Amino acid sequence: MKAFEKLALGVFPTPVHKLENISRLLGTQVYIKRDDMTGLGLGGNKVRKLEYLLADAKAKGAQVVFTTGGAQSNHAMLTAAACRKLGMTPVLILKKRGVTARQGNQLLEHLMGVDVRLMDTDSYEDIYAEMDRVGQEMGKPYYKIPCGGSNALGTLGYVDCVREIRDQGMQFDHIICAEGSGGTMAGLALGAKLYMPDTRVTGMMVDTDPFDRITVDLMREAAALLHADIVISREDFDLRDMCGPGYAISSQEGNAAVAMMAEQEGLFLDPVYTGKAFAGLIAMAEEGAFAPDDRVLFLHSGGAGGLFAVEM
Ligand SMILES: *Cc1c(COP(=O)(O)O)cnc(C)c1O
Repeated sequence: MKAFEKLALGVFPTPVHKLENISRLLGTQVYIKRDDMTGLGLGGNKVRKLEYLLADAKAKGAQVVFTTGGAQSNHAMLTAAACRKLGMTPVLILKKRGVTARQGNQLLEHLMGVDVRLMDTDSYEDIYAEMDRVGQEMGKPYYKIPCGGSNALGTLGYVDCVREIRDQGMQFDHIICAEGSGGTMAGLALGAKLYMPDTRVTGMMVDTDPFDRITVDLMREAAALLHADIVISREDFDLRDMCGPGYAISSQEGNAAVAMMAEQEGLFLDPVYTGKAFAGLIAMAEEGAFAPDDRVLFLHSGGAGGLFAVEM
């Protein structure tokens, strides 16, 4: 397969360990992959994607890096942190909707002295156009990273994650993750196909986008980048709707899952992504989707920054 250049932005491999109390409660073997400990900012899944995306930006001579997301985007915060480490200039053009006082990721961006612009729009097309306008105004070579870092190149970060798990000597029957913009789920599903073909990957959807199509498309595009000779279809993965009242609006089940993880294991999830994803895992266990001996891996994808900007 073809290999792509990537930068070393984080600390890998991240740990995998068993959740003893939760395993006992749910009647199956639950493990956690600690991608909340990826070693940059407060950790999180975007670091693996940024290792590829910013390598591409550097190779193309970019000095300024744009990205976008919601006002509390973990991805935007981690992009800024990575740019600081690399000596590139981050510019974040975020959706104004849902903005809070200087809390959570907004506070972290302030501490990094980042140029954050809040745009009163719901359209990413408007935001990408604004990036071009600002980039030309700045007069320096710039690079645009899409929302969530979810393009084919970013997806490769989670293909690597599955190889990393295999290289840690671990096998799992299931891998469960949150799905917000799709790159993480697509990378895990493609990685499982390549490196752990007996593992079923389930994406817990925390937004209302057409993730069946998005996931297949990203898997196919990433497989094409790798020159991997495989056939990808919708049957390669499972999805479950865990969005509840809406993206970035906490749900009752999600909050209960955040509380369960905190009370049982002393670990913190967030209400936007990982809490809803873990609620999906709990629901599957309650429905009997896992046998007592099944090994179920939950990807902790981070989100600590956002935890301090919500009311629960
Ligand atoms: C972005 C994010 C996700 C979702 O990953 P996608 O690749 O965007 O689907 C999950 N958890 C956290 C904490 C995130 O910040």
